[in-house]
Parts: sequence; structure tokens; C-alpha cells
Amino acid sequence: MRIDLHAHSNASDGTDSPAELVAAAVAAGLDVVALTDHDTVAGQAEAAAAVRALPPGTLTLVPGAELSCRVDGISMHLLAYLFDPAEPAFAEERELVRTDRFRRGRAVVERCRELGAPISWEQVRRIAGSGSVGRPHIASALVEAGVVATVSDAFTADWLANGGRADVPKHETDPITAVKLVRAAGGVPVFAHPGAVKRGRTVSEQVIRDLAAAGLGGLEVDHVDHDEETRAALRGLAAELGLFTTGSSDYHGSRKTVGLGAFTTAPDAYQQLLDQATGDRPVG
Ligand code: AMP
Ligand code: FE
Ligand code: ZN
Ligand code: FE
Repeated sequence: MRIDLHAHSNASDGTDSPAELVAAAVAAGLDVVALTDHDTVAGQAEAAAAVRALPPGTLTLVPGAELSCRVDGISMHLLAYLFDPAEPAFAEERELVRTDRFRRGRAVVERCRELGAPISWEQVRRIAGSGSVGRPHIASALVEAGVVATVSDAFTADWLANGGRADVPKHETDPITAVKLVRAAGGVPVFAHPGAVKRGRTVSEQVIRDLAAAGLGGLEVDHVDHDEETRAALRGLAAELGLFTTGSSDYHGSRKTVGLGAFTTAPDAYQQLLDQATGDRPVG
């Protein structure tokens, strides 16, 4: 079983449409893929339709989302799987974050322009399409304008990195609240890339303990942004706290270099995720 539990479509900051992502998952030889766009489930219906059009048994789709959270001034991501997308309290919180992404995106573009980058909000809107607007779309605009060579080169202190010259915070949910919202919607919360130091400061071990006490289900351990020591430490903490561990690509299409299935989740961890979920079922 090849199981990849973290991937983005152009409903947020990936470059593949949801149907293209499904085709890419088949081409990568995956048995299970989760679609986890930032703060939105807008891509799920198209992805589900694409999976249902495949010969039965080809691919299973796990619906999910990746929630933008903040604690102690540190941004962090919470993956949520198999929640009821219609549950109102959680749906309202996702909507709040998405709406604030527009205000914040405009402000980031304004900062970039003040710093001499010839980009525009219209350009960013074109790049983002109907997707949940984020810094990677602005990074693509900076690449188009010739300001930086790659999307990744835009995530430095000069431009868009956390705390960088053109970084403007957006509304982000307190993660304890987020864990409870996900569980109340029947979903399973998993802390995404908890040790991704190249993205900025990471939360303390105490925060992970507090999240576990609040209902966290798992930790994403095998991720391109984690080195071996970080993975070993997270695996130890997960065992101590009774959390399952996942591995995933965090695929963003051509906006990042990592391929689908670059990291995968063990079948027993996937089974624990399924056993804990009551809000929705996998497709296919
Ligand atoms: P936002 O959700 O708008 O705050 O932007 C965060 C997104 O930017 C993350 O989900 C990643 O896709 C991307 N990102 C964050 N840090 C980096 C980095 N160092 N290199 C490349 N992409 C990054
Ligand atoms: Fe992203
Ligand atoms: Zn993330
Ligand atoms: Fe992600």
C-alpha cells in the first residue's frame, strides 16, 4: 500500500487541478491520496468525481484540509481528515481564514511594491484563480516579475518568509481550538510538519503535549522539511503520547520540487486514522 496523506491542488496553492492531482496520484502508483488544501474543501467534489471515474479499486481519496494556526506567535499547520464539511462551526472558521487571506494578500502585494517589486494584486488573483490565496501565489508573481528565480527563493527574510520584509500575518486559529473544532466535526487532526525549522520558528514540545491532551490524533513525521534527528525525536514523542505518525509529500505540483509519494504513511497508521473518523468516509 502506497499512502500519501498531504497534497495540494489549485483550490489552494498547488498547481494541479483536483482532477489532475488524482491522475498524478495514479501515475505515481499511489493507492491512497489525501487532498488537503489550505483552509478549504473547494477541490473535494472535483477530486471525488475524478476518483469515481477510475476503474474501481484504482485509488482511494481521503478528503481533508490543512488549517492555518498560530500559537505563541508561531504559525503552524494542522491537517484535518474525514470531517463533516457541512458542520457549521468548523466551516465558519475555515471561511474566516480564507476571507482574511484576501486582505492579507493585498497587504503583502503592497509591501512588495514598496520594496520595489513590480507585481500587482490583479496578477496574483490571476495566478491564484479561484483558489485560497496564499504567499506561494505571490511568490509565483515575484518569479514572473523576475524578482526571484524560484518560488522557494521568495521565502527569504528579504521577501515572504515568516517575519520577512513583506510578510504580513493573516488570521490563524488557536490550535487547541482547531483540534476541538475538527473533532467536533467528526474529523481527525494531525500536526503537519511540526519540526519544519526552515519555515521559521517551530512550537515547543509542551505545545504538542497540550494538543495531544486536547484530542490530536497524529504527528506528520516523514516530511521533506524534517531531518533524521527531528524525525526520531517526533517518533519518540508520538509513542509516548499515543499518537500515530504519518509520512507525506506535501505535494504542490510545480510550485515545489517534491513529488507525490516521496514520503508515505504505514498502513497501520492509516487504519488508526480511519478508525477515529466519524465525519466522512474515503472515496473509492
Ligand atoms: P500562507 O498559507 O499564505 O501563509 O503561505 C504558507 C505556504 O507557503 C505554505 O503552505 C507553503 O506552501 C509555502 N511555504 C512556506 N515556507 C516556505 C519555504 N521556506 N519554501 C517554500 N514554500 C514555503
Ligand atoms: Fe502550501
Ligand atoms: Zn503546511
Ligand atoms: Fe501542506
